[in-house]
Amino acid sequence: MQHGRADAAVAGKVSAKTEATADCCASPSLISVDQALSHILDSASPVEQTELINIENASGRVLAEALKSTINVPGYDNSAMDGYAVRSAECTVPGVSLKISQRIPAGQTGVKLEAGTAARIFTGAPVPEGADAVVMQELCQQQGDVVTVNKAVKAGDNIRRAGEDIEKDSVILKAGTRIRPQEQGLIASIGQAKVTVKRKLKVATFFTGDELVEPGNELAQGQIYNSNRYTLNGLLQSAGCEVTDFGIVPDTLDATLDVLKRAAADADLVLTSGGVSVGEEDYVRIALEQLGELSMWRINMKPGKPVAFGKVDNALFMGLPGNPVSVFVTFIIFARPLIVKMQGAEKYLSNQLSIRSGFEWKGMKRQEYLRVRIRHDESGAFAELFPHQGSGVLSSASWADGLAIVEPGNDIHVGDVLKYIPFQGLY
Ligand code: AMP
Ligand code: MG
Repeated sequence: MQHGRADAAVAGKVSAKTEATADCCASPSLISVDQALSHILDSASPVEQTELINIENASGRVLAEALKSTINVPGYDNSAMDGYAVRSAECTVPGVSLKISQRIPAGQTGVKLEAGTAARIFTGAPVPEGADAVVMQELCQQQGDVVTVNKAVKAGDNIRRAGEDIEKDSVILKAGTRIRPQEQGLIASIGQAKVTVKRKLKVATFFTGDELVEPGNELAQGQIYNSNRYTLNGLLQSAGCEVTDFGIVPDTLDATLDVLKRAAADADLVLTSGGVSVGEEDYVRIALEQLGELSMWRINMKPGKPVAFGKVDNALFMGLPGNPVSVFVTFIIFARPLIVKMQGAEKYLSNQLSIRSGFEWKGMKRQEYLRVRIRHDESGAFAELFPHQGSGVLSSASWADGLAIVEPGNDIHVGDVLKYIPFQGLY
């Protein structure tokens, strides 16, 4: 996702100057998504501490230092096929017959290939000295100890060269790489059993609202279940964070101050839901201003207008809105890039793709993040819209494959190309 430089005004509280210059279509006192993201990312630095861990536990972790290979991979020229190793100069035309002089399975080493002979060879076995090509067995005919090669052969055919994957002394992965299963395999392929990674990011969460009840309990009139807890903690766990959950917090200033103090004491980031609007029962922003600093608050987006960002002691703070879809969307747009940057990863912005719209949409002043599903027709992929886009309709996020972005003031017609953030890869 692109983001411009943060306006000086963003770093302080939102000001009239920011609104006027940020975006012609923005509502009063809102900053653009790009400005907000830019400001958030500029406030974050990667954790410094590292730890040495076994590669089997390294999925999702971030490499703290570059990894160099001390070996070639493959370590030797080897056969890419089950077949026959030959001297290509002896097989320039189809139909040449050669005596089979040796048999080389994977894991064994042959001897020098004598002129006029072929070696029976299997995938992964070292190509014997003297041979410079392998012919796949389907193109050969074996009778007794003689093989007829029914193909003209070129030097290098079906040979995997030493070092063609990884060259000795080369850097295979840079510091800041997030380790996926393919990197776990790559690290194993150079023989390394342990890697130095950044320590896990410590994230504290709490969930404000007198109406909240944990699932498994009966609801009284006016109560709802604390679904945000499971969405948010799940997203954090998928992002590889160490989560400390402070649970449900009542809507009082004292309770909010108390939990914020405790949450910030040992966290890199405090992430909350609810209580950041302008209602009389919204205490998160006030508590943040009392204990630390609020540097950014209202964003020109839907869902998710109120996102409070700041600092308490050594912890960064992000207060997400209360509405369940807003939590999900603002986590993807703001919290995840912040977290990934703090984890020390080089690539921390989400993948933004393009998708053809399969729906009509009347744009509004705010930037919208619509829940869409990817479908296919004869022209390829297109986005189908979930019919109910309310910020409380969590089914929309469950139904969808990703978010289609509608920029402020844009009307969307069927066939228009939209920016699209797939959920895949985010958790
Ligand atoms: P708030 O931002 O606190 O005014 O909350 C906005 C809306 O989100 C209200 O309808 C809340 O009931 C709802 N909400 C707040 N917190 C949660 C939560 N943890 N789980 C589900 N819904 C919530
Ligand atoms: Mg509330």
